[in-house]
Amino acid sequence: MNRERFINKDVGSLNIDNKDFFYLNEDEEFLLNFKQSFIKSIKGLFIYASLEKNLIMFYGNNKDILGYDDQFLIMNTEEIKEYIRNDYINFLIDGLKNNKEVELKITNKLKKEIWISIKGFTKKDEKDNIIEFEGYIHNINIEKEAKLMLEYITFYDELTGLSNRKHFNKLIKAELNKQSLLESRGALIIVDIDNFKFINDSYGHKCGDFFLEKFSQDLKKIFSFNELLCRFGGDEFIIFVPNILDLKQIKEIINKIMNLLKEPYIINNKKIVTTASIGVATFPDDGEESEVLLKNADSAMYIAKSNGKNQWQMFNSNISKEINRIYSIQKELRTALDNDEMFVVFQPKVNLTDDEVNGFEALIRWENSEMGSVSPGEFIPVAESTRLIIPIGKFVLREVFIKISYLLSKGYDNFKIAVNLSEIQLREGDLLEYIKSLVEEFKVSPKYIEIEITESMIMKSVDRNIKYLLEIKELGVSIALDDFGTGYSSLNYLTKLPIDVLKIDRSFVIDMVENDKSRYIVEKIIQLSHKLGINVVAEGVEEKEQVEYLKSIDCDTVQGYYYSRPENFENVVEMLNKNIDYK
Ligand code: C2E
Ligand code: CA
Ligand code: CA
Repeated sequence: MNRERFINKDVGSLNIDNKDFFYLNEDEEFLLNFKQSFIKSIKGLFIYASLEKNLIMFYGNNKDILGYDDQFLIMNTEEIKEYIRNDYINFLIDGLKNNKEVELKITNKLKKEIWISIKGFTKKDEKDNIIEFEGYIHNINIEKEAKLMLEYITFYDELTGLSNRKHFNKLIKAELNKQSLLESRGALIIVDIDNFKFINDSYGHKCGDFFLEKFSQDLKKIFSFNELLCRFGGDEFIIFVPNILDLKQIKEIINKIMNLLKEPYIINNKKIVTTASIGVATFPDDGEESEVLLKNADSAMYIAKSNGKNQWQMFNSNISKEINRIYSIQKELRTALDNDEMFVVFQPKVNLTDDEVNGFEALIRWENSEMGSVSPGEFIPVAESTRLIIPIGKFVLREVFIKISYLLSKGYDNFKIAVNLSEIQLREGDLLEYIKSLVEEFKVSPKYIEIEITESMIMKSVDRNIKYLLEIKELGVSIALDDFGTGYSSLNYLTKLPIDVLKIDRSFVIDMVENDKSRYIVEKIIQLSHKLGINVVAEGVEEKEQVEYLKSIDCDTVQGYYYSRPENFENVVEMLNKNIDYK
């Protein structure tokens, strides 16, 4: 039978109820195919195209597809191009040639974008050009959207709309291959929001989510389609920047990211001030595999965090060593208290009016069998990040109560012992209850205790911390502001915080002798503090000159190697309430 003739002439009058219709044909195979096409096309659109004749025919439910009311429609190949994007046409032809089902997006007569699928049979000439096609078109918008949605759920982060970890892991592999072929460098950047938990805890999770959403939107604006941007987890974002030419380029990108956080984010009328720590590893220098790059960028980020946050760090071989050291510290720290590796030393504080020791600062020490003595400057940040600072802090407080109790039993009465606190203890521990329980247990008045806090600890949640400090103060504990001069040194806080003592940082004291300005500042700070009823301690005093000068400007108390290093209690206890201006 002549297939061409049949379709051309008879399709317009096809009647599905006419069962005889199918028997009109002699070509069994064609009939079967046609029948299938037809049945499928009942919901869709039957298509027959003859490229030789420059003719395309449609029959069926056209409204949902090309947007015509007509059941029967004839076009030429030029007309059909109006509906299909130019660059899709080759894709379509390729697919059809290989008898594949092709899915593509068209813009129909009603200017509606829809997804369609086309499948059918082609007849090709000896040069493999399509000369004839017949098949059916379906509107697959719903299926496609569902599929895209599913893909979206699988590969994109619901909150921020950024790629998720799974997607990133998939994309980065291809991207690294590309960079390798191009012999290009790429930079993998990990951005971790500092103290995000704190935002969640103090403003609520909704607020935290809003912040992440806004921050992600801002991040997106910095980057183009060339960069992979992903929310890797909670408050961690990853960016892969291809084709890096030099370090300057990386620095510029980092600056842009850091600048996003320069201004507070206003969420629900609350000002959210935060920073980020950033780690960078470059491809292929710091790793050729995505896993290695990720690990190294993460290590660099960790170092940025432990160096005080709000900074960025490039991976280098020292970082591997540093990270290994941190891992050892983390591991050993877990058992340090149980193994009796920790102890407390005491550094005398000297009252400058009578040169008498009027108290001590308790400082933690750690002797580990593997690592030897590890300085608090090194292990405290690790203890903070692992929350081990909570039991360690309790241990120090308990030791201090033991010593106070001893001193009282020996008849000393005029002294205070200062204890350093970490932010986490203020925020998460049961500090107040613990102090109360020690007071109970040792039957010792809290007035012998002084806690040392820093501005940065308070800054994160000023109002809440002030409230908490007031509760501690209410017990009779006095409060010292430590390291003044290193952080924000906001004079504003002097009036706001419920502090009894201000400790001027060692760096100021060192500077003071040579630098007129520092000297002037220290003098003014002392005067101002006195007006506010705050006592001043100068830290890190190592020279007689410093002591004399501090005396001349009415500093109340000094502490430093000039008088004594921090020592075991037995070595310094005798100094208490004695005049030690012996040098
Ligand atoms: P910090 O609170 O500022 O303590 C003063 C530090 O300066 C101590 O270092 C002390 O040994 C040192 N120092 C005192 N006088 C001089 C001096 O004249 N010259 C010099 N160069 N240094 C002097 P340390 O004991 O290594 O402690 C370092 C930091 O670790 C402390 O700084 C404090 O922030 C933290 N830390 C120490 N013990 C504890 C603790 O029990 N709990 C918490 N949370 N932090 C602690
Ligand atoms: Ca201190
Ligand atoms: Ca200090």
